[in-house]
Amino acid sequence: MKKIDRSKIIISELQKLYPETPIPLNHNGPFTLLIAVVLSAQSTDKKVNELTEELFKVADNPKKMVNLGIDNIYKYIKQLGLSRQKSKNTYNLSKILLEKYNGIVPNTFEELESLPGVGHKTASVVMSQVFNVPSFPVDTHIHRLSQRWGLTNGKSVIQTEKDLKRIFPMSLWNKLHLQIIFYGREYCTARGCDGTKCFICKKVYPNRKKKVVTQKA
Ligand code: SF4
Repeated sequence: MKKIDRSKIIISELQKLYPETPIPLNHNGPFTLLIAVVLSAQSTDKKVNELTEELFKVADNPKKMVNLGIDNIYKYIKQLGLSRQKSKNTYNLSKILLEKYNGIVPNTFEELESLPGVGHKTASVVMSQVFNVPSFPVDTHIHRLSQRWGLTNGKSVIQTEKDLKRIFPMSLWNKLHLQIIFYGREYCTARGCDGTKCFICKKVYPNRKKKVVTQKA
């Protein structure tokens, strides 16, 4: 089956399973979503939501976050991986937003990626979920499933992003990346699947015999 045909099956199956795609990270605006995404690196959204529930009660804008200070930010997020670095990034990012952007989250990739703790994936999530700019942030789930579905060779997340943007219609990117993440969490987990277990692979690879091995992100 051609890649384009597989992509059409994947789109329709994911749309049936996840017609609605609520943003998994709790937030009350662009700033708190940006911070939540920065904090979610190498952590689960569940844990981030648990900790930001308290953090955002005291600091849900750059001014309050700067006033809170690095040590207090750390107290709220210390259960997260890389929490020391994330505390510094959260503080410095908030300071730069106040100094350079009047406290407003900028809406370009360049400006976002110039902020501490904000890489291309984080910038893509914000551009997609805050500013509704078509983007395809590739996280570990998307990188793994795209390989299992034969949409990319897994060489790198940059290559995976390029391949997915080529195969899927731009109008679907913002929704599709969340649908793939939801499927990766619920059905197609990292704990391994030989690529023959569930209906998606049975449809896109009906004759698959060989176990699928994927490259990590
Ligand atoms: S068969 Fe396995 S690899 Fe394929 S989509 Fe299902 S869970 Fe994922």
